[in-house]
Amino acid sequence: MSNYTLVIGLEVHVELTTKSKMFCGCANDWFGAKPNTHTCPVCLGLPGALPVPNKKAIEGCIKIGMALGCDIPLLSKFDRKNYFYPDLAKGYQISQYDQPFSQHGSITLSSGKKIGITRAHMEEDTGKLMHDTVNGEKVSLIDFNRSGVPLVEIVTEPDFTSAAEVKEYLQKLQQIVRYLGVADADMDKGMMRLEPNISLRKEGQTELPNYKVEVKNINSFSFVEKAIAYEFERQAELLDKGERPTQETRGWDEDKKMTISQRSKEEAADYRYFPEPDIPPFVWTEDYLESLRKEVEEKKKYFPENRIPVYMNNYGMSNASASTIAYSEIRTNIFGTAVSEGTVSPNSLGNFGTYLANIRIEPKEVHNVVDFTKTISQDFTQKQQVTGVSDDELQTILKKVLDANVQSVADYKKGKTNAIMFLVGQAMRELKGKAKADTVKAELEKLLANS
Ligand SMILES: [Zn+2]
Repeated sequence: MSNYTLVIGLEVHVELTTKSKMFCGCANDWFGAKPNTHTCPVCLGLPGALPVPNKKAIEGCIKIGMALGCDIPLLSKFDRKNYFYPDLAKGYQISQYDQPFSQHGSITLSSGKKIGITRAHMEEDTGKLMHDTVNGEKVSLIDFNRSGVPLVEIVTEPDFTSAAEVKEYLQKLQQIVRYLGVADADMDKGMMRLEPNISLRKEGQTELPNYKVEVKNINSFSFVEKAIAYEFERQAELLDKGERPTQETRGWDEDKKMTISQRSKEEAADYRYFPEPDIPPFVWTEDYLESLRKEVEEKKKYFPENRIPVYMNNYGMSNASASTIAYSEIRTNIFGTAVSEGTVSPNSLGNFGTYLANIRIEPKEVHNVVDFTKTISQDFTQKQQVTGVSDDELQTILKKVLDANVQSVADYKKGKTNAIMFLVGQAMRELKGKAKADTVKAELEKLLANS
């Protein structure tokens, strides 16, 4: 088999958690409700019903764009995307074609690689088809509760070259929309849905492949990984035979563990987009966008990647411990509770962070964050008393190690940061396992910075 590299672009749909739907006053909390109870002439697509855009939803879309570093054009509009499907009663979806609310942003992965965001635009969700058996007859039923739910579509450039990159991007995106407070992005409930566009090129080839395969119907991080692995094998086999894989839409079948052809892929021209005549274009003022940007900047302080340096600088945690906590919602809440409730003495918060990063936590065990934090704070304090050293004892030992190893200290200060590992080793020997290497390293770094 020849060597191939993956070329993947992603389309992600995120439902916004506004009170009402995108273009009508129907309640937006459709999930789990009795079918067709959250409907009105607008979201049922009845003739003559007129859409009224939801301001909160549009702000949500713009905020997502801002958090992704996108440009927000001063002029935007809605367009009609025409296609027929039973779950789309109007025969068209109100979406955005050439003037979306935001475009040209990026998400940076932990490797430092930037994934380009083409656009984040606003549209409406469709109804939901349910396949059932009624009186022994197989039928398809339609529930319009989801019809008209505000939906933001976030499209990337074809910048991914592995399933791991896709997964990391999706996790980051999910956290961003959650921290902004605009979406729950619960994949089990279909509130965040993914469609990777997958193709292959020969290793070393720089131009993009002349085909792409879109995989729909993916509602978990693990399915997207499996679908990408499956498509890699399938497309590589075809390319090896000298065939070009068909440009098409496929669906992931979790039972069969394979993708299945659904239809040939539509081009933009097939949708006959035209400006939505019932909604005038939007013209933003700089002042208005600035006020939204301020809100986004405030929320961004709490994004995981921005909390890592705070944990490291304020509490002396290692990068590894700080990252583990910052990227776990439950650990972040527990650590925050320990700080605000004072369940751990202020001097021990760094060590508590290391402890918290290394224990197993089952989310379902946590019924009440405050109670849970108190329990594990007690466990931590007890363990520290049994096996740990007091802060004073630790500081004395570390200072002794620094005094005895002047050369390593000098090397470290000259920029040979690896010299610290020798010092950690010496300190660990003195401590006889009474402290974690992570903690010792962080404490040494503090001492060296202040000496
Ligand atoms: Zn409605």
